Amino acid sequence: MKEFDAIVIGAGVIGCSISLALARRGIKTLNVDALPAAGYGSTSHSSAIVRPFYSHETSCALAHEARHRWLGWREFLDYAPEPVARYVETGGLVLVRNGTEHLYENNLAMLDKVGVEFHRLSPQEIKKIYPGISLAAFGPPKCQHEEGFGEPVSGNITSGIFIPASGYVSDPQLAARNLQVAAEHEGSMFSFNVRVTNILREGGAISGVELDRGDIIRAPTVVNAAGPHSFAINDLAGITSSLKIKTKPHRHEVAYLKAPSGYQQNAGFIVDLDAGVYQRPDSGDMLIGSADPNCDPPDVVNPDDYNDQFTAQWTTQAIRAAQRWPELGIENNARGTVGLYDVSDDWIPIYDRTDLPGFYLAIGTSGNQFKNAPVVGDLMADVIENRAHDSAPSLMNLTNLKRSIDLSFYSRHRDVQETASVMA
Ligand SMILES: Cc1cc2nc3c(=O)[nH]c(=O)nc-3n(C[C@H](O)[C@H](O)[C@H](O)COP(=O)(O)OP(=O)(O)OC[C@H]3O[C@@H](n4cnc5c(N)ncnc54)[C@H](O)[C@@H]3O)c2cc1C
Repeated sequence: MKEFDAIVIGAGVIGCSISLALARRGIKTLNVDALPAAGYGSTSHSSAIVRPFYSHETSCALAHEARHRWLGWREFLDYAPEPVARYVETGGLVLVRNGTEHLYENNLAMLDKVGVEFHRLSPQEIKKIYPGISLAAFGPPKCQHEEGFGEPVSGNITSGIFIPASGYVSDPQLAARNLQVAAEHEGSMFSFNVRVTNILREGGAISGVELDRGDIIRAPTVVNAAGPHSFAINDLAGITSSLKIKTKPHRHEVAYLKAPSGYQQNAGFIVDLDAGVYQRPDSGDMLIGSADPNCDPPDVVNPDDYNDQFTAQWTTQAIRAAQRWPELGIENNARGTVGLYDVSDDWIPIYDRTDLPGFYLAIGTSGNQFKNAPVVGDLMADVIENRAHDSAPSLMNLTNLKRSIDLSFYSRHRDVQETASVMA
């Protein structure tokens, strides 16, 4: 039997960031993870795009604050004896098709409120920056078996929104490892290849966890940062019915194809809701992920038993990207990755306490919280230290932006917010 101040279930990018922040505040932590190393879960599949383009001011502000930490990653870590993940600030482009301008107004208003610079690009400017791109219209996106799939429709991409303060992190798993090493330097401990099988309570409060080997670890604080397994940990803790917002795992395929000549390594990522995909450069490749169009039903899976091979999802995404990039070759052997999102009811995470004293949630990251991980550690440390926020207004200071955000936005008791998709 061992004792800690806090146990963090999960050593993904979120769990590692939480232990670093807690350790810096003198709280002795242990991360336990069922996998062999930090960031081997959904973090390792992440496209790791960093963008402040969100439909809510709090999300936009948190992402823009986090970008400052990626810019100064080594300084933020403060202890980095190994290679560190690289943040590549390429900028990012959101394509706007004629007649859909209203869909982006809210996001642009949020950029204005937070003070993020953006430029509107004309079709000529888009073609200059991205030679070879097609500005035909294809949407709304269709499934492969639907008539007209892959064919242009009337209309055009009439403008673009370019956000310079955006980019991607070269190696998301390494970023988690960097956080682990920095946290260990501050006194945190990590235990891998061990699964939490029970959450222990005493006198109505958290008292620790039980592991699959039968070990008992005691702590008055336990954080659920179990990614796509978050719902299972909540079930173990017996708190699921007390949550207004629930989480479930969605399976996602990401395709890698040799990049066309007009889309090279330093090209900005592209969000293309008209074709239903996003793209970013990855060495000599184009990485292609889904923008979750309405025609694609969510692929809800069991996180312990899902298909990790490529399916028609891969081909659909490759063809959608090839509509936009006519020179893109679709290779015979599918390359890429298959990972899980931990999706909440409104694609916004839950960062909160729970009705079970000592049990905290950093879950529902919904395919869009890698970017925020460096700030989520401090956010959760604030929640844990203040035993906040429980839906009550609770301010977190964002030092780079010199402003605060109200953490009740991330409450487990919130009403479902309006968001479009993974773009949140
Ligand atoms: C394909 C894909 C693309 C994405 N693209 C982006 C993007 O472009 N930008 C962005 O910001 N975000 C993106 N995301 C989202 C981002 O990657 C996630 O939000 C983030 O990585 C989640 O980190 P985590 O630490 O919460 O989860 P994870 O990395 O999944 O870590 C959770 C850990 O908990 C462990 N665990 C679970 N149950 C137990 C148990 N019972 N006992 C012990 N350990 C347990 C698991 O083994 C796992 O390692 C993407 C995600 C995916 C899958």
